[in-house]
Order: sequence, then C-alpha cells, then structure tokens
Amino acid sequence: MTLDSHIHKVLWTQDQILHRVTQIAAQITLDFNAAPDPPLLVGVATGALLFFADLVRRIQLPLSLDILRPQSYGSDSLSNGDPSISLDLKLGVKGKHVVLVEDIVDTGCTLSSLIAHLEAKGVSSVSICAFLDKLTRRKVPVKLVGDGKFYRGFECPDHFVVGYGMDFAELYRNLPYIGVLKPEHYK
Ligand code: 5GP
Ligand code: MG
Ligand code: MG
Repeated sequence: MTLDSHIHKVLWTQDQILHRVTQIAAQITLDFNAAPDPPLLVGVATGALLFFADLVRRIQLPLSLDILRPQSYGSDSLSNGDPSISLDLKLGVKGKHVVLVEDIVDTGCTLSSLIAHLEAKGVSSVSICAFLDKLTRRKVPVKLVGDGKFYRGFECPDHFVVGYGMDFAELYRNLPYIGVLKPEHYK
C-alpha cells in the first residue's frame, strides 16, 4: 500500500507550499535586513522541521538556528493545553530577536506557552512564523513579544491535516504535500 493511497484530499501541493515558503522567507529577509543583530530562528520539533529546513535556506541573512520541543501529547489528535518543554534550546537567547517557526496553530495553547518560555529567558522580541493557522479554533490569543511580527503561510480549514512535517499517530510527516487522510486511516 502506497503513502498516497491513504490521502483523501490534497489541500496544498508541494509546488504551492514551496512558492509560499519562498514568499515568507523574502518577507523575513526584508523585515530583519536592517536589524543590528542576526535573528535566531527556532523550529518547534517535530512538526515544523520540514517547513523550518525549507524556510531558513531561503532567508538571505546571517542567522542562527535552534530547536525547541514541547512536551508531546501522545499519539492522539487532541492537545491538552498544558505543554511544557521536553527539549530546551541549546543557545542562549537573552536579548535575541527570536522567530519561532511552527507547523500549525490551532487553539494557540502550545505557542502561548512557548512564547512565555522564551520571554522568561529575556528575549528582546518573539515573532511567530506558522505555516498553517486554524484561525477559527483559537482559544488563546497569540501574544507577540517586543516588536515581533506574525508570519502565516495559509489559513487552514478546520480539518485534521497531515504531511509536510505534520503527523497522525507519528505517521505521514514525510508527505511532501499537505492533505487530509481517508477516514479509515484516522484510527
Ligand atoms: P494548539 O496548542 O495550537 O492547539 O496545537 C498546536 C499543535 O497541535 C500543532 O503544533 C500540531 O502539533 C498539533 N495540531 C493542531 N492541528 C493539527 C492538524 O490539523 N494536524 C496535525 N497533524 N497536527 C495538528
Ligand atoms: Mg507543532
Ligand atoms: Mg502531532
């Protein structure tokens, strides 16, 4: 059984994804071009890592990279709203301008807790770069730090999506596009 045969519907193709990633990278390049210090791009593992890799190689600036892993929710599709950190940053972030790179924002609980975590470390600003945003499902407003900005790839309809780093039960992260599974595979 092939990977593609598990997919009910493709929402964004690989071409559409990379086109949008290129646009976001150009915007970040423009916004941080005049900044005195290089930004620190932080990828939220595991879901954002494909987006992170595509994004950072298109940003035309000196920058640093690090990874943050929130506590996993297990293999179900519901978040519990209380993510703590399971893998912290390697680099010091005091006084840094951080761009937090996420796969998808849903309720906003995960991002809010990660932002609070970075703020407590004394960052100068936190910007958010989320590839997808389920705006209609927001429970917690995402509060930026300092003069941080919010970059968004696409607004996502209220479906549980997989691919381009995003999983269902730790599968499908390697799909190069984003789609919705056939109902029999959400089990
Ligand atoms: P939040 O804390 O905003 O409710 O949830 C954010 C996290 O939940 C995302 O980083 C992602 O890991 C997961 N998530 C939310 N919606 C989806 C979805 O449609 N598909 C997948 N695979 N993960 C999702
Ligand atoms: Mg994520
Ligand atoms: Mg997941």
